[in-house]
Amino acid sequence: MHDTDLMQLALCLVPPWMVKECIFDADRRRLDIEIDFAKGDRFACPSCGTADCPVHDTSMQEWRHLDFFQHQAFLHARVPRVRCDDCGVKQITVPWARAGSGFTLLFEALVMTLVTAMPVRAAARLVGCHDTRLWRILHYWVEAARKRADFADVRNVAIDETAARRGHDYITLFVDIDRRRVLHVADGKDAGTVAAFADDLEAHGGDASRIKEVCIDMSAAFIKGVGENLTEAEITFDKFHAVKLVNDAVDKVRRDEVRQRPELRRSRYLWLKNKHRLSAGQSTQLASLSAMNLKTARAYHLRLAFQDIYAEPSRAWGQFVLERWCSWARRCRLEPMKHVALTIMRHRDGILRWFDSRIANGLIEGINSLIQAAKAKARGYRSTRNLKAITYLIAGKLDLKLPT
Ligand SMILES: [Zn+2]
Repeated sequence: MHDTDLMQLALCLVPPWMVKECIFDADRRRLDIEIDFAKGDRFACPSCGTADCPVHDTSMQEWRHLDFFQHQAFLHARVPRVRCDDCGVKQITVPWARAGSGFTLLFEALVMTLVTAMPVRAAARLVGCHDTRLWRILHYWVEAARKRADFADVRNVAIDETAARRGHDYITLFVDIDRRRVLHVADGKDAGTVAAFADDLEAHGGDASRIKEVCIDMSAAFIKGVGENLTEAEITFDKFHAVKLVNDAVDKVRRDEVRQRPELRRSRYLWLKNKHRLSAGQSTQLASLSAMNLKTARAYHLRLAFQDIYAEPSRAWGQFVLERWCSWARRCRLEPMKHVALTIMRHRDGILRWFDSRIANGLIEGINSLIQAAKAKARGYRSTRNLKAITYLIAGKLDLKLPT
């Protein structure tokens, strides 16, 4: 068998395309394969599909292909423009590559597999390419898969923001709770992010008026955005955020008190963590502090009582205990606790909605940490566009339909 025949089979080329020549250069560690068609061969029009259009002219192109053992491999071919009676002169698409890519489809499939598992920069080093070329491949496949994504059955959505770049800049994630996938990533964390999500939902066969349940924190921007754009949705305020607000108030009480009570120094962790997370020594320390007549200890008991509300058997019980808790907190003479009680009271419908919806943002926190871990491994991204593409790639459950 000739090496050209072997390559013909290995590349799965079909007529009129055939392997014309293989040049292997061991010193330059590369294999160049020239593909061609015969004089007089005709091609289908890429616009209308009319078969047997004559070749108008050709231009030489090169594509990086999968490595040949330890050697880089390249395909070369003169790509014809055909003359179609209806469409005029059109450049055809070769079966082994996308127009304008410079890589074969199989090479792109390899790149997509690599960048799902490692930072783009590391993948670029591995294949010996500049990383901007790999980003271009990544954006193409992610965008193509996102275009096909179907949001028709989305009913329950969790919304939360995450840091895009150090300190400033946020993106907001919209997550399908039932299918555990990122549907949409929006710039910023204002009410406009929800409008952008509603538009994107409809662009993918979804319907904003069919969203039934939404889980958000108590930010005014999200409340406004949901009210204006997801008009049929019931709001559940995420219970982790609610507990965190109460926790923050406890810490404020402690920071105010620490000046008079030095024994409170370095005790922040004890009051904020759940009891079962504390070591034996920490538990003893917490017990002895709790027994002292401390404002922080009173605030702490309020926090424990708040958390217990979620263990009530029904919404009715939850409401009863929540209202009792709020009146207790309002009379406790600890300003931060009184203040948080007012906030909780103002948002009680959404807090109590949890008893019916049972949704929380735990899922989205998990996705957030995946994204932040990828970001840290990549030592940040050059642009928010890159961060978004990576988010869709690792958490969007996209069907990339990679060539095999
Ligand atoms: Zn045509």
